[in-house]
Amino acid sequence: MTNKLTTDLQNLDAILTTVKQQGIDYLNNVEERSTASSGEVEIIRDLNVTGIGAIEALKQFNERFEPVMVASSGPRYWGFVTGGTTPAAIAGDWLASTYDQNTQSAKGNGDVSAIIELEAIQLLLSLFNLPKDYFGGFVTGATLSNFTCLAVARQWIGKQMGKDFAREGLSGKVNVLSATPHSSSIKSLSMLGLGSGNVIQVNVLPGNREALDVTDLERKIQALNDEPFILISSAGTVNTVDFDDFEAINHLKLKYNFWWHIDAAFGGFAACSPKYSHLVKGWENADSITVDCHKWLNVPYESAVFFVKEKHQLLQVATFQNSNAAYLGNPMENFSYLNFLPENSRRLKALPAWFTLTSYGKDGYQEIVESNVETALKFADFINENPNFELLAPVRLNTVCFSLTNDNLVTTFLDKLNASGKVFMTPTFYNGKKGIRAAFVNCRTKNEDVDLVTAIMSKILTEL
Ligand SMILES: *Cc1c(COP(=O)(O)O)cnc(C)c1O
Repeated sequence: MTNKLTTDLQNLDAILTTVKQQGIDYLNNVEERSTASSGEVEIIRDLNVTGIGAIEALKQFNERFEPVMVASSGPRYWGFVTGGTTPAAIAGDWLASTYDQNTQSAKGNGDVSAIIELEAIQLLLSLFNLPKDYFGGFVTGATLSNFTCLAVARQWIGKQMGKDFAREGLSGKVNVLSATPHSSSIKSLSMLGLGSGNVIQVNVLPGNREALDVTDLERKIQALNDEPFILISSAGTVNTVDFDDFEAINHLKLKYNFWWHIDAAFGGFAACSPKYSHLVKGWENADSITVDCHKWLNVPYESAVFFVKEKHQLLQVATFQNSNAAYLGNPMENFSYLNFLPENSRRLKALPAWFTLTSYGKDGYQEIVESNVETALKFADFINENPNFELLAPVRLNTVCFSLTNDNLVTTFLDKLNASGKVFMTPTFYNGKKGIRAAFVNCRTKNEDVDLVTAIMSKILTEL
């Protein structure tokens, strides 16, 4: 009897052809697939002794899991900030699995995969019109990107105090200032031992804003009496997509000594369009920037990048070096990614991004961004024109944060809407009100999707 692995290795053609066809069918029908999960799956707790082979495993997957998978990569999945996938990104992702490289060094060992990663970073800097004095790399998501950037920031603070936190461990207090940080930055502070409860809260601007009040920021800086600090600023808050005033922060940077981090997970894509690039004006002087790729770049999960100014490279290596020897000299000489970021072994994470950037270029991403914003504005028009709804914040880019005029009805309304399976949105709480968020970052979303959803919303209103 031949074992299943031997048979599968002989049947590679049949296995991959079947999977390819299933992938094509899924993607061609994702617009019709439900956005609502329907049914539960029992977990199998014992492993089959002989295994069943890939074709039978696929059958089992198709029976048990596939039917209840939701269209989270479809055009009407507007919950959280959920990107889709471009055809080129899927091609890159499939090949990343097929070639199965362990992306580390750019020299020697025939490892070209790190070259692809370094190149993808250059293409992204070019897409965002950011200067080339950033070093970047790929991590699993914006959470890990924030973590990576803030870890280097922590090392920088230590240096200002004449300490090497990476070697010696933390000591003293690390000051962190922020107005509306994403929850993942707070989580990163707790993972980094900086304390999630230690953020010095900067006021937001008056008038329904989530951006920091620069005057209050300066007041809080002065209260630190010249102690160094980390500023976590936002290019796109999650609720209302508000942007801190980066030009004003640039002015403060001339006067005070701090590490400036920008979480631009999805808001950074404003840079792709001349219509919206003013929102990130001045961001090019930040010490570190977080950008998610599995959101608006429309590559599959898990993909995000960090950008850290090259001048901080020694601090970055001191934080992430994978050896006990102190890293002296030029870290690019025997370059390996594992000395610059949390993971050691990694897949060829950059390949989906490289494929999609190379395939669609600057124009392609300008079009995706502008089209998504146009769709968001169209949806906001519907909210504005219907007296049963109200916007909780103006639409600055790609997200609509709204409520029902009677906000006691929000939960019932949202449950009914999501149960339709035609659209998915997420609940939120903003300015003392229950609300709903719809975020537009999928390259498949069209104006007709808004028409379809608003018709359903109007119908549900009559049933409340
Ligand atoms: C989504 C998001 C994150 C976290 O990203 P993950 O990819 O889920 O790790 C961080 N910051 C902002 C502003 C986000 O929108």
